[in-house]
Amino acid sequence: MSDSILHHPLVRQLQTLEAVTWFNPDLDSAQEGLKKVGLTRHDVQEAEARLKRFAPLIARAFPETAAAKGIIESPVVAIPAMQRWLAAADKRAIPGELWLKKDSHLPISGSIKARGGIYEVLTHAEKVATEAGLLTREADYSVLLSARCRDFFRQQRIAVGSTGNLGLSIGIISATLGFDVTVHMSADARQWKKEKLRSHGVKVVEYAEDYGVAVAQGRREAESDPHCFFIDDENSRTLFLGYAVAGLRLRAQLQEAGRTVDAAHPLFVYLPCGVGGGPGGVAFGLKLAFGDDVHCFFAEPTHSPCMLLGMSTGLHDAVAVADIGIDNKTAADGLAVGRASGFVGRAMAQLIDGCYTLSDETMYQLLAALAESENIRLEPSALAGMAGPQRLSADYLSRHGLEAKIMANATHLVWATGGGMVPEEEMQAYLAEGRRALQKG
Ligand SMILES: *Cc1c(COP(=O)(O)O)cnc(C)c1O
Repeated sequence: MSDSILHHPLVRQLQTLEAVTWFNPDLDSAQEGLKKVGLTRHDVQEAEARLKRFAPLIARAFPETAAAKGIIESPVVAIPAMQRWLAAADKRAIPGELWLKKDSHLPISGSIKARGGIYEVLTHAEKVATEAGLLTREADYSVLLSARCRDFFRQQRIAVGSTGNLGLSIGIISATLGFDVTVHMSADARQWKKEKLRSHGVKVVEYAEDYGVAVAQGRREAESDPHCFFIDDENSRTLFLGYAVAGLRLRAQLQEAGRTVDAAHPLFVYLPCGVGGGPGGVAFGLKLAFGDDVHCFFAEPTHSPCMLLGMSTGLHDAVAVADIGIDNKTAADGLAVGRASGFVGRAMAQLIDGCYTLSDETMYQLLAALAESENIRLEPSALAGMAGPQRLSADYLSRHGLEAKIMANATHLVWATGGGMVPEEEMQAYLAEGRRALQKG
């Protein structure tokens, strides 16, 4: 790691742990940017088709998805009371409308990880079952829940490293299919997530170190076992495509909600970012669906700004927050990542409008404010996007020709990434911390 980045003005700013907003100077048109991702619309459509093939199985294995016929999707809702709260807190109105994408309430694992994690396990299951002659494309995929298939899956191993939510998703779906699954959990993972996994028969290995170490250890163990499939949160194209499906589906959802998106009605999406696969994949899908009419921002804790650091210096995964003296300690579980995915940072380098950081204190304030104003309860990470609408600078808006009369038609969509399965006691502690943060002001 060269010392020269320490003189980068933005790096200096990150080191102060103050909230920072960075607008991407390399942002290109959707058409040009999409050419550099290395994945296509066709790939995302294939992922969508695969999820449809699995829908009968999902509906049967997870009865809470039966009403949606086994399609794992979350609602979008307007949050006008929260919009008023933000305007009052900041003494500045947010032009347009504020909406929330409730991935926090996705079935099975209550977080955005129900997209990528589950999709990758299903992709793997389809592949190995097909190779073993247990499945054809035309079959009803519920056959995979039969005793014969479960016996087959029991001989197959799956491993993953996680800060919690990815492990929860992959652990639950893998165990449901019968796989022998091990989740390597970093120190910041919550106890209740470990307990929930163990209750599903998942092996949980705990580490005293952070996410990077848990992933490295999981990878190493899997490498020594040819029958073990390692799910690589840092590099997986499959996970990325599972997330991207959300972007394509959002078009119909917003239409149904009566929100127009076009050049005169821009869409701004604010995505909490950990290693980058979730927000990167969703943003990829959004760019495919809305082109230049969507503007995507990544949100990170001030103590874990790995994507902002990697993208703004162009060093991507060659730099970690520890290299600039930042500790990667945050209450935002899913976001406690010190080194961003090199694949996502490079793939999305021309498609992301910007990144910003916010303090844990701010996330807690927003958590309490959302619970009070809208009666919606999220985990701290999931509030990172809520600071986004107030970060759009006059300079940024004018550079993109986003004048006041256009912004009056804007939809600001905050991607709520988790919280739906947080136990009540834990949620009460989050709310208490949030109210304390609000009182401190
Ligand atoms: C994992 C996670 C994210 C971010 O996803 P990455 O793929 O790690 O960038 C955001 N919020 C929550 C709650 C998460 O669990």
